Amino acid sequence: MGRLDGKVAIITGGTSGIGRGTVDLFLKEGAKVVAADLQDHKGEAMERELGENFSYCRANVAHEDEVKNLVDHTVKKFGKLDILFNNAGYGGVGGELQEIDMNGFDETVGVLLKGVVLGYKYAVPHMKAQKSGSIISTASVAGLQAGYGPLVYSACKAAVHHFSRCAALELAPHFVRSNAICPGGIATSIFGSGLGLGTQVADQFAEVMKTHLAKIQPTPRSGLPEDIANAALFLASDESTFVNGQTIAVDGALTAG
Ligand code: NAD
Repeated sequence: MGRLDGKVAIITGGTSGIGRGTVDLFLKEGAKVVAADLQDHKGEAMERELGENFSYCRANVAHEDEVKNLVDHTVKKFGKLDILFNNAGYGGVGGELQEIDMNGFDETVGVLLKGVVLGYKYAVPHMKAQKSGSIISTASVAGLQAGYGPLVYSACKAAVHHFSRCAALELAPHFVRSNAICPGGIATSIFGSGLGLGTQVADQFAEVMKTHLAKIQPTPRSGLPEDIANAALFLASDESTFVNGQTIAVDGALTAG
């Protein structure tokens, strides 16, 4: 028996890194899964590979009509929505304070914060109506402590985990849960993308990051997408039905000190 038997999940940023790892684990545990992303070639390849319990839906999480369409697509395809994993993200605008480009700022907040809020906005009515649901958002250690990411990225991630806690108070009476995960350094293509590398090279760069992260974190190995997927599985499953409004760091003790 799978730990997510009978459940339907949306995973944003589902074609790469943490999202892809979570798609694979949720399918293995019996869920039906819709992955949303902007990387159509990867999503379409996953549809060919993963079978009838999987669907890819292109959606830019910063665009309200696309998030609405994503939720509509999921409910039409699989009949309901039990789990939303707000996970899409990127490094966002960089630079020192006096250099921050305000268009880049708007884009970053659009993806990292508005994208999460939109997910809640369209998932919650379905979850409230069925009196159950689990919403999980990927924040970051950068949102817990200073110094782990670009300034605007870090502020957005702090907002994500606090939003998640505040939303839990509103959702708890409806048996809907809202939790956040703060990953430490996880070897994915986010680092290569942040350096402006193309998709394929960024994917290869994740391997380089594995070695590098093993050297700079208290636990002498890199975090892996599976580490976050396992935490998401716990929060998505009925093993955690009384866990609500919490932020779980999965970081090999990076923020323990
Ligand atoms: P990744 O680059 O492998 O995956 C991110 C995915 O999100 C990509 O497939 C990308 O196409 C997608 N995406 C980006 N913008 C999008 C948008 N507007 N709409 C839809 N999809 C979009 O990186 P990852 O490390 O797996 O990142 C997943 C999440 O984990 C992100 O929110 C990231 O900020 C967070 N995170 C990562 C780390 C780490 O060390 N890798 C640490 C802390 C937090």
